[in-house]
Amino acid sequence: MGRERLYLFDTTLRDGAQTNGVDFTLNDKLAIARMLDELGIDYIEAGYPGANLTDTQLFAEERGLRATFTAFGMTRRPGRSTSNDPGLAALLEAKADAICFVAKSWDYHVRVALETSAEENLASIRDSVRAAVRKKREVLLDCEHFFDGYKADAGFALACAKAAYDEGARWVVLCDTNGGALPHEVERIVGEVVTVIPGSHVAIHAHNDTEQAVANSLAAVRAGARQIQGTLNGLGERCGNANLVSLIPTLKLKREFAERFDIGVSEAQLKSLAHASRTLDEMLNRAPNRHAPYVGESAFATKAGIHASAIMKEPATYEHVPPEAVGNRRKLLVSDQAGKSNVLAELERIGLKVDRDDPRIGRLLEVVKEREAIGYAYEAADASFELLARRVLGKVPSYFDVEKFDVTVEQRDNALGQRVTVSLAVVKVKVDGEHLISAAEGNGPVNALDLALRKDLGKYQSYISGLELTDYRVRILNGGTEAVTRVLIESQDETGERWTTVGVSPNIIDASFQALMDSIVYKLVRSGA
Ligand SMILES: [Zn+2]
Repeated sequence: MGRERLYLFDTTLRDGAQTNGVDFTLNDKLAIARMLDELGIDYIEAGYPGANLTDTQLFAEERGLRATFTAFGMTRRPGRSTSNDPGLAALLEAKADAICFVAKSWDYHVRVALETSAEENLASIRDSVRAAVRKKREVLLDCEHFFDGYKADAGFALACAKAAYDEGARWVVLCDTNGGALPHEVERIVGEVVTVIPGSHVAIHAHNDTEQAVANSLAAVRAGARQIQGTLNGLGERCGNANLVSLIPTLKLKREFAERFDIGVSEAQLKSLAHASRTLDEMLNRAPNRHAPYVGESAFATKAGIHASAIMKEPATYEHVPPEAVGNRRKLLVSDQAGKSNVLAELERIGLKVDRDDPRIGRLLEVVKEREAIGYAYEAADASFELLARRVLGKVPSYFDVEKFDVTVEQRDNALGQRVTVSLAVVKVKVDGEHLISAAEGNGPVNALDLALRKDLGKYQSYISGLELTDYRVRILNGGTEAVTRVLIESQDETGERWTTVGVSPNIIDASFQALMDSIVYKLVRSGA
C-alpha cells in the first residue's frame, strides 16, 4: 500500500515573527524562505501583505521558489462587502500562490472580540473564501481558537470550518491559538472533525504553552489531519509554535510515521536540518539551544565513561536515531567524569591514532582533570581540547611566540566632539627568528588584541586570512575578589568550519588572549601549516 502524503507548512516568517525581539528585514525573510524551500517544506507563510512595508515588498518580489508561497490576512470585516474592504483587497492582489485567512471559530470571541453575530461570522468566511477561490488562489482558513471553541460550542466551531470547506478552501486549519490543549483532547477533537471534513483537508496549528505543540501535532496526524503547521526552532510568541525541527525527523525516522507517510523532505534534505536550525539562530543572533532535540550540540553527547565505551562498540545502544541522519554528530564529552574510553573515542574522532595502553592517555586525562578543576571547560571547547591532546602527545609545532603585548583603553573626545572609548593593542611576535610588531585599534580591548594578533604572522598569514571570530562569551566563576573569568571564543573559517576555544584567568584580557591564541593555532594545525 502506498504511503499517504503529509504536508508541512512553515510560518516562521509570520507567526514566528511575532516572537519578542525578532524583527526580520526583507533580506532576512527572503533568505529564510530560500532555506525553507531547500529543506523541502511545502508551504511558506511569509507575512501580511498590505499590513507593513516589508511584507508588502516581499509579496511584490519574484521569488522563484518551489514551495507554495502563502499570504496571511483577515477575512472580510463584519458589515462590509468583499469589494469594500482594503485589507482583503491587498491580500487578493498580493503575488501569492495561496491565501490563508484567519477567522473566529469560538462563539465567545465572535460576541466579545468581534462584536458581531454568529451568522455574520459565517457569511464573512464564505464570502472571503469565495473571493480568493475566484482569484485562483489556493485557500486555507485558520480557525482561530478552534479547540477552545469546540469545547464551548462544537456545532458552531464545526460550522465555521465547514463553511470554508464547502466554499472550496483547500485546507481548514485547526488552531490551538492559546496553546492550552492536551494531546488526548486534540486526538479526540480532530477525530470528530474528520468525520465531517476529510482529513486530507484538515491541518493542525499548535502553540507550545504546555510544551506539547509537537505532541499535539502528532496526535492530530494520528487522528487524520494531513497538514502540520509550525516554525523553525519553534519560534513564535509566548512559548512558541510547534517546532518543525523536531517534527520533521520524527516523521522521517520514527517507524509509525515513516511507514505511513511521505513528506516533502528527502533523506538528503534531512541531513541539512541541523545546519538550517543553526543558521536561523545565527540570523537572530542567538546562541543555539545545546539541548535541542535532534539538532542540539548535546543531543548526541554522552558523558559517563561506561556509556561511552558501549557507544563506541555499538552506537544504537545509547542513541534513538543516528545523529548523521539530521546532520548532527555524536559527541563524547571529555570532562572530570571522563573515563579513558571517552578520551580514546574523542582522539579517534579528531583523527589522532594512539594505542589504548599508551601511558600518555593517562597523562592527558590527568591534565584535563586538573585544568577543569581551575575553570577550563573542554566540553564546550573542543578545539582547545584537541590542541591540549596534541600537545600532550607532542604533535603541535611551535609556529610563533608572542613575546609581549600591550593593550590600552582610552576615553576621549573625537573630532566631532563626541565622547568615545577606543582600544589600542600592540603585539610583538617572533616567527622563525624574525620579530614582527603589529598594532590595531578596536571597539574594545579584546577586539583590538584579536585584530593585532592576526595582522601579521609572517609566513603563516595566508593560513589565517579567512579566520573570523563569531562569538565571544564571558563567564565569571566563583564570586568576590577571587573571581576567575572564563572566556569562550567561537571562530569560523572560509570553509564554514566552526570551533570553540577556551581561556581562564583572573584577568579577562589574559583569558581572552589564551582563547584567541588557541583559535589561531588550531586553524594553523587544521590547515597543515
Ligand atoms: Zn499561531
